[in-house]
Amino acid sequence: MNLSGTICINGQGHLEIGKCDVVELAKTYGTPLYVLDEDGIRQKCREYLDAFRSYYPRYKVLYAGKAFSTMAIFRLVEQEGLGIDVVSGGELYTALAANFSPKNIYFHGNNKSMEELNFALSAGVGQIVVDNPYELETLAQLVEGRKKRVDILLRLTPGIETHTHHYIQTGQLDSKFGISLAGGAALAAVKQALKYRRLKLRGIHCHIGSQVHNSESFALAARRMVEFLAQIREETGRQLPELNLGGGLGIAYAKEDNPEPIALYIRRITEAVKAACSEEDINLPTLVVEPGRSLVGEAGVAIYRVGAIKEIEGIRIYVSVDGGMADNPRPALYDAKYKAILANKAARSPVQKYTIAGKCCESGDILIKDAHLPPVEAGDLIAVPSSGAYQYAMASNYNRLPRPAVVMASQGRAEVIIRRETYNDLVRYDRIPSSWGEKESLSLVM
Ligand SMILES: *Cc1c(COP(=O)(O)O)cnc(C)c1O
Repeated sequence: MNLSGTICINGQGHLEIGKCDVVELAKTYGTPLYVLDEDGIRQKCREYLDAFRSYYPRYKVLYAGKAFSTMAIFRLVEQEGLGIDVVSGGELYTALAANFSPKNIYFHGNNKSMEELNFALSAGVGQIVVDNPYELETLAQLVEGRKKRVDILLRLTPGIETHTHHYIQTGQLDSKFGISLAGGAALAAVKQALKYRRLKLRGIHCHIGSQVHNSESFALAARRMVEFLAQIREETGRQLPELNLGGGLGIAYAKEDNPEPIALYIRRITEAVKAACSEEDINLPTLVVEPGRSLVGEAGVAIYRVGAIKEIEGIRIYVSVDGGMADNPRPALYDAKYKAILANKAARSPVQKYTIAGKCCESGDILIKDAHLPPVEAGDLIAVPSSGAYQYAMASNYNRLPRPAVVMASQGRAEVIIRRETYNDLVRYDRIPSSWGEKESLSLVM
């Protein structure tokens, strides 16, 4: 089995992450549990920076915070020399709470509210990535009142269809994101942006989709964007200094996934940019990428405890675990595929196909349809690798399941970075209308 970073099977036949035995982690912190391989995330950050260092003169790597937005990860990527992008006031708040340097924060979103824009301006975020003409005008007014300049990029849709699930395609013409390159809308927005004194248009941005396995579409997007930079220069006399190509590099979830290595992806897009710049005779812009999934995805492992097992003769064996679509909605949302490891018997050979079912009251709450595993018994631990991105970030309290704890593991030490929710957390925001009067309180027995 292909495991990344420090994730491996130890001498006792247990899954191990950051030299911490998963069987012990489950005992100490309970299940479901999310374990992050700290050194694995650091390694991915360095792969991005090292590749850029080899291939391109001016660059920035931003962690796309929405993949897993929490204070410890923001702190970690800052230590590694990355910036971040955020897509909401809540993510921005999380980053500021972690003391993330505001100038290295980019603010995205297709419908930023006035409050969010004001928050970003007050916090002094480095750049606002403007998604549409309405936002451009709104921002221009807000900034005018503040008498200070702000750096912006314009988000464009280059009209590229990627080979990924349609829910995570974003660069095609028919998208809710960005301003279309086709039909002149993008050029009109650029000209408009250049008219506002207090908006400093630094460049253009695109993000064509997520979980993309080869860099052909990224290279194509890069070329179109550079051609557009050349067109801007021709029409306005300005050469914009920055080109942001978004994120989107895929990771391995299941056996059939074969994503391109980070270094190769960076080599291909930098080559595409250099070639296009030389053809169009423009200076190399500062190149920015915004990986999310490929930084944290493979470093995360979800750990579940097996409960009920149900065999339907000749059809399938359901293995129910103590989490499910509440902590990982991806299989239900985009039919995402995963593999599983029996964490407490990880060295044994698979003998049987099992269906790993979540505990939510939905027939669609199936985490994995066909997991090949050694014989599974109640009490075993199922580990799901590649669980670091878009899982906890999308987790809900459906069925009033408390969100799991998250621990960061490295060099034999594990620390909680998000504590497990309690039942009390679940009713924290509930109120009963006071006009209904009081009911004698019963003591909660658990
Ligand atoms: C989601 C997103 C990313 C990150 O995408 P990944 O597939 O996780 O790398 C980057 N940029 C923007 C604008 C995004 O919306």
